[in-house]
Amino acid sequence: MSIADLDRDYVFHPFTVLATHQQSGPPISIVEAHGSTVVDADGRRYLDAMAGLWCVNIGYSHPEMADALHRQASKLPYFHAFSSMGTEAPARLAERLIQMAPVPMAKVFFGNSGSDANDTQAKLVWYYNNLLGRPEKKKIISRHRGYHGVTVLSGGLTGLANLHDGFDLPLPMIRHVRPPHRLWEREPGATDEEFARTLAQELDDLIVAEGPDTVAAFIAEPVMAAGGVIVPPETYFPEIQKVLDKYDVLLIADEVVCGFGRLGVEFGSTAVGARPDLMTVAKGITSAYVPLSACLVGSKVWDVIVEGSSRYGAFGHGYTYSAHPLAAAAAMTNLDIIERDGLVQRAGDLGTLLHSELRSAFADHPNVAEIRGTGLVAAVEFVKDPASRTPFDAVGQFSAAVTRASLENGVVTRALPAADTVSFSPPFTTTEDEIRAMVDGVRRAAESVAVKA
Ligand code: PLP
Repeated sequence: MSIADLDRDYVFHPFTVLATHQQSGPPISIVEAHGSTVVDADGRRYLDAMAGLWCVNIGYSHPEMADALHRQASKLPYFHAFSSMGTEAPARLAERLIQMAPVPMAKVFFGNSGSDANDTQAKLVWYYNNLLGRPEKKKIISRHRGYHGVTVLSGGLTGLANLHDGFDLPLPMIRHVRPPHRLWEREPGATDEEFARTLAQELDDLIVAEGPDTVAAFIAEPVMAAGGVIVPPETYFPEIQKVLDKYDVLLIADEVVCGFGRLGVEFGSTAVGARPDLMTVAKGITSAYVPLSACLVGSKVWDVIVEGSSRYGAFGHGYTYSAHPLAAAAAMTNLDIIERDGLVQRAGDLGTLLHSELRSAFADHPNVAEIRGTGLVAAVEFVKDPASRTPFDAVGQFSAAVTRASLENGVVTRALPAADTVSFSPPFTTTEDEIRAMVDGVRRAAESVAVKA
C-alpha cells in the first residue's frame, strides 16, 4: 500500500474533514524536508510558507539538531521529574528561560504542548486563588478568535466556534471578549487609541458584570496567530493591563507562536508592552523537532503556590514527559542556533521583505480586504467585496481554494478559520528569494480563484 492509502485507511487526522479524508486521503504525503523545502512521496518539492504550524523556526533537518538529539538519546533519553527527581538539560533550560524572559519570572513548569501548558496555567491560577482563600475567583477571560489549544479547558479558551461545536465547550468558567481586530471590530473612523480604550472598557464592564471576585485571569496571545494574524493597537495591552491591575486579575501571555523571535523580537510581550504574571511557550522553543512546552511562573503566583505544600502536600499535577531530557536538549541547541546565527534579527528583516512583497503582490487583487502582520508573520484576508466589506457567502471556501492552488504552485500555506484568510509564517532561515517565491506562488493562486463582486 502507498503512504497515501495507509494514511487514508488508518490515520484519524486532526482538524480535517473526516468524511472527505476517508474518500480522498492526503493531498500530499511529506517524506523529507530541508530548510524551508518539504518533499512529497512523488519527489515534488514545496516551499513551506508556514514553517509547519508556525513552529519550525530554524528550518527543517538542521544537522546540529540531529547531532544534539543523537548525543542526548545516547546518554540519557529519558528520566522523569516526579518526586523532586532532577536531570541536567531541563535544569539548564529552565535557568536559560528565566534569564531570557521579558519580565521577571521565578520558575518553569515543563509540558508537551501548548494546549496542556494552558491547562496547567488555569490549574495554577485556581490553586493560587484557593490558597489565597478566594475560592470564587476562578473565571478566565479570553478573546474571540484567540487560539489557546484544544484540550477540555484550553479548547474553550480558544475563541473559535469550530473548536466548541459538538464538544460541549467552553467549560462554564470561561468568558470571551472582542479581539483587537481592526477590520471587523473597530468603529468606522475610530483611531487605534479609541479602539483600544473601547476594548479595555468592554473588559472592565465584563469583569464588573461577572463580579471582580469571580474573575481570576485574562489570557491573550500578544499577536493573535491562528485566529487571523491580528496585531493589536500599540496602546491595547497597556490599557488592558490597567483593567487587570484594577481588579487583581492575572495576565497569562500565550507566547506559543510569538515566543523566541517570530515577531523579530525575542518575545511578543515585549513587542506589545504586556506585563504577564504567567507565560506559555511551546512551538519555537524546540523549533518543533521534539514536542515541548513550558509555563513560566512569576513570583506573585509562585510565592503563593510554594506555600501550598503545607496544605496540599505534593503538587498534584505533572506529566510523564514533564521536563523531558531529549526535548530540553533540543531546546538548548535550538536556542543556541537562534542566538549564534542572529535569527531573531533575521526574522525581523525577512518580515520587512515579506510585508512589502505582500503589499505589492496583492494591492490590486479584487478580493483583498486587508494585508496585515508584523515580524515574520503575515496574513491576507479576502472578502467578496472589499469596498462594502462583504464577506463571501460561504466563508472559508475562497481561502481553501487559494491554499489548494498554492500547493499546485509549489507553496504550502494555510487558510485560517472563521474568515477567508491565508497566512504566512515561514522559517527564520528562509532565503529572500524563497520569500519572493512563496508570495508569488500564493498571488498566482489567488489570481486564479479571484471573484469579481
Ligand atoms: N497557543 C497558541 C497561541 C497556539 O498557536 C497553539 C497552537 O497553534 C496552542 C496554544 C496550542 O498548542 P498545541 O497545538 O501544541 O497544543
